[in-house]
Amino acid sequence: MNDIMQSAIERTSQIIEDRRHIHRNPELSFQEHETCAYISRRLESMNIQHSIIAKTGIIALIGSGERCIALRADIDALPIEEETNLEFASCKKGIMHACGHDAHTAMLLGAASILKEREQSLKGTVKLLFQPGEEKVPGGASIMVAEGALENPKPDIIFGQHVYPDAPCGEVQISIGPTMASADELYWTIHGKGAHAAQPHQGIDPILIASELILHLQSLITKSRNPLLPGVLGITSIHGGSATNIIPEMVEMKGTLRSFDPEWREKVMIMIKEHSEQLCAMHGATCEVTILRGYPAVHNHEGAATFAINTAKGLFGEAGVTNFEPKMWGEDFAYYGQHIPAAFWMLGVRPHDQHSMPGLHNAKFTPDEQALPYGAAMMSKIAIDWLENNE
Ligand SMILES: [Zn+2]
Ligand SMILES: [Zn+2]
Repeated sequence: MNDIMQSAIERTSQIIEDRRHIHRNPELSFQEHETCAYISRRLESMNIQHSIIAKTGIIALIGSGERCIALRADIDALPIEEETNLEFASCKKGIMHACGHDAHTAMLLGAASILKEREQSLKGTVKLLFQPGEEKVPGGASIMVAEGALENPKPDIIFGQHVYPDAPCGEVQISIGPTMASADELYWTIHGKGAHAAQPHQGIDPILIASELILHLQSLITKSRNPLLPGVLGITSIHGGSATNIIPEMVEMKGTLRSFDPEWREKVMIMIKEHSEQLCAMHGATCEVTILRGYPAVHNHEGAATFAINTAKGLFGEAGVTNFEPKMWGEDFAYYGQHIPAAFWMLGVRPHDQHSMPGLHNAKFTPDEQALPYGAAMMSKIAIDWLENNE
C-alpha cells in the first residue's frame, strides 16, 4: 500500500472524531464561528501556522518555497432538520451537515496532519483554504478571493473535493472540462388586477398570465439554446390567491437558471426579463423580474484534472477512478478556477453493501466514514506529487 494511504488510514479515528464534532455542531453559511474556532484549535495543536479570512474562514500554510498548491474545503451546513438518528446527529434544531462539508473539513485536517509530518521534504508551499458559505450566494469562495486568499503566496494551482453518494467508498470520479453548472436565482412578481372571479372582465388575472409565462419560458429555453449545450430553467415556486371566488392582485414565482455556457447565460437572462415584461404587458399586467447572479460554472482545467486523475490512480488503482458525468449542480469552487488552474473531484461515500443512499441535501444523508481516509490521502498525495513534479 502507498505510504500516504497508510498514513491516512492510521489517522482514521482522528478524522472521524473531527468529522463527528463538526457534524454535531453545524453552522449556517457565514455564521461558522464555532467551526472556525475548532479548525483553528486543531491546526494550533499540529503547530500549523494559520490566519482568519472572510470572517469565518481560515488559511493555513505548510512548507515553504515559491511553488504553491492550494487545497480547499468548505465548512458550512444547511437549514435542514436532520433525520439520521446518528448518535452524533446535529444538536442544532433545523441545521444539518447534509452536504458533507463536515467530511470535507475533517479530511483536509487529516491531510494537514500528513503534510505537516513531511514538511521538511515538501518541495514548496501547501496552502489550505477552509472556506465559509459555500451554500449561499455570493459564495464564500468569492469573498475569500476578494480578501486575497489567492495572494501571498499565490497558489499555482488549486484542488477541491466533494463527497459523492452515487459512487462507492474508495472511488474517485472526475471529469475534464465541464463539471458543474452556473446557477442563478430568479424572482418574478406579476401584478394584475383583483376582481370577483365571476366577473373576470373587471380584473386582470395574474394566475392565468403566470401559467402562460411558465410555458412560454420553457419554450424560450428550448429554442434560444444550442441543443448540444445543456441548460435548465426550473420554476420551483408559485404563490398567488386565497379563495375559489377571487382573482388575486398578484402572483409571485421563483426559479433557477443553470448552464455551462457563459454566453448563453448572459443572453438568456436578458431574454427572460424582456419576455416576462412583454408577455405581462400584453395582458395589461406588469412584471418585476429580479435575477440574483449565482456561481459561474465549474470547468476543470485539463492539466489540473489530468494530474488529479493520475494521483487518484496511483492511490486507488485504475478501477478506482472513473469519469464524472457533469451535473447541473452549483459549486462556488468555480471562483478559484477563474484565477488559477483548478480541478474538483468527487469522492465516493456510498457503503459497499448498498446500491443507493440518500443524496446530498437530504435529511437522511449519511456518508460512509470509511471514505474519510481516502479523501485525506487524495488531498495530501496530490500536494506532495504536484510540488515534486513542478519544482
Ligand atoms: Zn450543498
Ligand atoms: Zn457541498
